[in-house]
Parts: sequence; C-alpha cells; structure tokens
Amino acid sequence: MEQFGRIKLSPKQLSGLKTPCYIVNESKLEENLRLLKYVQDKTNSKILLAFKGFAMWSMAKLVKQYLPGTSASSVSEAMLGRHEFGGELHCYAPAYSQADMEEHVKLADHIVFNSVGQWNRYKELVKQHPHIETALRINPEHSETDTAIYDPSGPNSRLGTTLENFKAGLVDLEGISGLHFHNLCELNADALERTLSVVEEKFGFYFDKISWINFGGGHHITRPDYDVERLIRIINDFRSKYKLKVYLEPGEAIALNTGVLVTSVLDLFNNGMKLAILDTSATAHMPDVLEMPYRPFIENADEPQEKAHTYRLGGITCLAGDVIGDYSFDKPLQIGDKLVFGDMAHYTMVKNTTFNGVRLPLIYKFNSNQNELTLVKEFGYNDYKSRLS
Ligand SMILES: *Cc1c(COP(=O)(O)O)cnc(C)c1O
Repeated sequence: MEQFGRIKLSPKQLSGLKTPCYIVNESKLEENLRLLKYVQDKTNSKILLAFKGFAMWSMAKLVKQYLPGTSASSVSEAMLGRHEFGGELHCYAPAYSQADMEEHVKLADHIVFNSVGQWNRYKELVKQHPHIETALRINPEHSETDTAIYDPSGPNSRLGTTLENFKAGLVDLEGISGLHFHNLCELNADALERTLSVVEEKFGFYFDKISWINFGGGHHITRPDYDVERLIRIINDFRSKYKLKVYLEPGEAIALNTGVLVTSVLDLFNNGMKLAILDTSATAHMPDVLEMPYRPFIENADEPQEKAHTYRLGGITCLAGDVIGDYSFDKPLQIGDKLVFGDMAHYTMVKNTTFNGVRLPLIYKFNSNQNELTLVKEFGYNDYKSRLS
C-alpha cells in the first residue's frame, strides 16, 4: 500500500495511475460536506458552493445531498450550477455586460450587483423575472487579510459598494431585497465576527429594508482548528437580532484537504545543484504557487537541507521560472518516482491552464471507504486546440 494522505493505493492501483493527475477523495469531501450541513442545521442558514474554488461537477450528486445551492460569478459557472447541480443559484460579478445579464436572468434565482449603477442599469430587465431576488454587494472597508490580492477591502477596492456610495444611492435601492459582503480569505470565525460588527455598525440602519444577507466566502470552516461553535453562535446571535435569512458561500472550505496532485520525476541532473524535472508545471497546473506565492506541501519531503538529498523541483514548460521550490528527501530521487502534492483539489483545478500546450492533469476520484479509484477525466490535444483558433 502506498499512502497519499488518506488515499491508500495498492501496487496495482499505483502502477495503473497515469500522471500528472489529481486524485480527489470523495469520502473526505463528504466529511467536509457533513460539517457544513451541521452548521446549516444548527443555525438555520444556507451554505452555497462557490464554484470559483471548486467546480468538480462529477461530484455534484454528492454535494447536492448536503448543500442547497451554488454561487456563480460568470455565465459559465451559472450554467454549471443550473444544469449540473440544481438548487438555488446565486450570481455575483464585479460587472455584468448586457449579454451576461440576459443569460443570468434565465439561470439565476438570486443576483447580486456590485454597484448601484449596475443595479440601475439592469433593474427593469430583472423585474421582468419576479422570482429573482436581488442584492447589493457592500464593502465594509474593514481588512482582515494581509495579502493584498486577496483583500476585497483594500484601498480603492473595486469590490462592493462603500458606505458613502451606498448612502448616495439610497433612493435607487427600491427592489433590492438583500445585502452581500465578502471580506475574508482562509480565515477563522473571529475574523467574521469583527467584520460582521463593522457591517452592522455601518449598514445596520438598512437591515429592516431587506430579508436576506450573504456573508460571502473565505470561511475556513473545515480546517481542523476552525472554531465551528463560534461560527454557529455568531450566526444565531445575528439571526435573533435581525430576523434575516443568512447565506454563506465558501469555495475552499468545501474541498479543503480533499485531494492531491500526483506527479512523476522525468529527469534528474546537476547544474550547480541537483535538479528534478517533473511531469507537472507550477505555472500551468498549480498557478497559485507562483501567484500567491506559496510553497506546496509534498509528502515525505522537507525544507531544503533538512533531509539528506535536496533538489530544486521544476516543471515541464519552457518558462524559466516554472519552479515549484527546493525540497529535501531521505533517499535520492529516481526517474519514475512519484511525488505527491497535498491539498490540491481547491483552486488548483479550476485555475490550471494548457500553457505551452502542456496537458491538463487527469482527474481521478477515490473512495476511501471502498478503496476504489476511478478515472473521471483524461484531457488531450482537443482541450488545448479548442481554446484557440
Ligand atoms: C472567492 C469568492 C468566494 C469563495 O471564497 P473562498 O475563499 O473560496 O471561500 C465567495 N464569494 C465571492 C464573492 C468570492 O469572490
């Protein structure tokens, strides 16, 4: 048995495994979903899957058993929600084109606008679909994250309506039935509590004009140290004060720690230090490693020099900076060795590209209760070709 996190593969499963590939453990995904269901049951709130973080639609049947709907930020995500997942479909985008909005009104039951101007532009069209609930995204101008590209409340942010603009647009808000804020990134319940008190302080005067509020995503609910009971208390306190329906729309928390990326060593040589070329790519298959940037976890590997054999791990594109990082191992690497990158099911899969014509990793699902490995998808030339012309 070779163990990849909680994914245990027999020699036969391992020898048949094509790399690079993602393996998503549906048993672990179900565990995450069960926790999210627990929060919903304890708070009478609704948790939606934000596709931006996880859009593996072959898992829709499982996700649907626990979550009442999805949250989309583009027409393609909205189509995935309507046609593959069903349930409630909430849409939000920093701006909608006329063509986008004509599609969204056919697909969504909740549409969130980023500015009063966008609402004014589309309110007549939306009102022709009386079942659609609408909201305005507000910006509480309260930062909880230090990483600027993940901070919606940074200076001069384009995300959400500030209190000043909200007050200036008050006369136009007739017909808006909800508010939405999204201010967190990989944060615990204390960050929500602080953000929520700012939202109440600034926008609370308007709460008697609405019937629902969406607390956005960035809640790391399924992380082992997340304070779930505190989240439950925050939502329940809020609901008893304001009688508003509460939604949350995490992406990452749904798929946190559910999957790995398995890659093979293709070549080894020394250019002043030991280098290993892998059949994956930082820029194409795990772009956040370069964008954020962050150092991905590799099973049985450590910081450079901690173990006996240190290598710089690089990808298969021609980008000079296609480097994942320096890692050390107990034994020298061999061509054909498999390396397992941890926690690669969220964001990584939705953000990967075919840059340099590199094939996208295959997608397997694994069921740890039945020890069953199933190939879900294999990508090829057409996935590259169909993006271009
Ligand atoms: C990114 C995003 C989410 C999901 O965020 P996670 O960090 O993946 O939980 C939800 N809502 C909006 C508006 C977002 O932009």
